[in-house]
Amino acid sequence: MYIDDLEKNGYIPVGYHTDFIDLLADNPDIFQVITYKDLKWQGDYSADSFYLAEKRAWDTAIRKGQLDDSKIYVLIQHDVDSQPQRTMSLLKYENQRGVPTNVMIFNRRVNRRHYISSGKIEYTEYPLDFDLLRKLQAQGFVIAYHMNAYEQSGYDDILALDFFRTDVDELNKNGFDIKFFSAHGGAPGPNNLNNRDINLSGIENGLIWVHNGKTPIFDNNYSDGGLNSLSRDPAKRDLRDFVRKWKPGKRYRVLTHPQYYHVTVKSSKRMSQASWYRDILQAYDDGIDAKKVWENVRIEIEENFKNKNSIFNNIESFFEKLKVLMK
Ligand SMILES: [Zn+2]
Repeated sequence: MYIDDLEKNGYIPVGYHTDFIDLLADNPDIFQVITYKDLKWQGDYSADSFYLAEKRAWDTAIRKGQLDDSKIYVLIQHDVDSQPQRTMSLLKYENQRGVPTNVMIFNRRVNRRHYISSGKIEYTEYPLDFDLLRKLQAQGFVIAYHMNAYEQSGYDDILALDFFRTDVDELNKNGFDIKFFSAHGGAPGPNNLNNRDINLSGIENGLIWVHNGKTPIFDNNYSDGGLNSLSRDPAKRDLRDFVRKWKPGKRYRVLTHPQYYHVTVKSSKRMSQASWYRDILQAYDDGIDAKKVWENVRIEIEENFKNKNSIFNNIESFFEKLKVLMK
């Protein structure tokens, strides 16, 4: 049961997200849900080849059978930019369904509007449920740092490093074991600088940058970021189309911002240009066709998996018969 008592509307019905989680949870033979901890990290972080070395080690493990090449590997990342309560509800749901995800949290959240209008830093409410997050961390979720240090420093190269260190220290003091970080797309500074442009000069100290700036390699990536952005074609943003293309033995990342998903929805003007978006709003609104939203993807994926197994079984039984005949 998904519980969220916030009154403000989201843009996307939360069922579209939780039904995706269900698809993964219901098919452990097909999907292996992974976190950043599962990646084959190795070698020198400062080396240019760091991320390439990881992906090579991963692919070698697949080839040698140390990782199951019949599985589809899926990593889910959530960026908690606003409305943290919505993420907390989604995480509870994922935990119930046994789907561990990677959760990017701020230490302090910058008031974006205030910064853009005044150039001054002001912090906002950011009600994270620390008890829940610590419990999830103990159960295999990854809690990581959504890095906004450059923005907090007012895009000062020296000060930014202090903010980075302080944020990570404070998160660790709250019981987290911060090993990874991703850069938040914050309020831009002079020359359009953003958090991803920070010069860390090696102070990452064992933390690994995993998104927006530097990233491990995936066979493909999906992101719902910048939902209303004019630079992205709404027709191409249906998560179901991304999932349909998945192949066994490959590794995929799905990045979502849970603030967009809610029980009650106000349609996004930009997204409403896409028929798939209008369809799912309708389906989850009246509830009648809600079950059908992910059904075709589910059938397609489950059928493919069964067929592949039955071909394999057929070949096996063919050889069994051959052995009998040759006796
Ligand atoms: Zn962000």
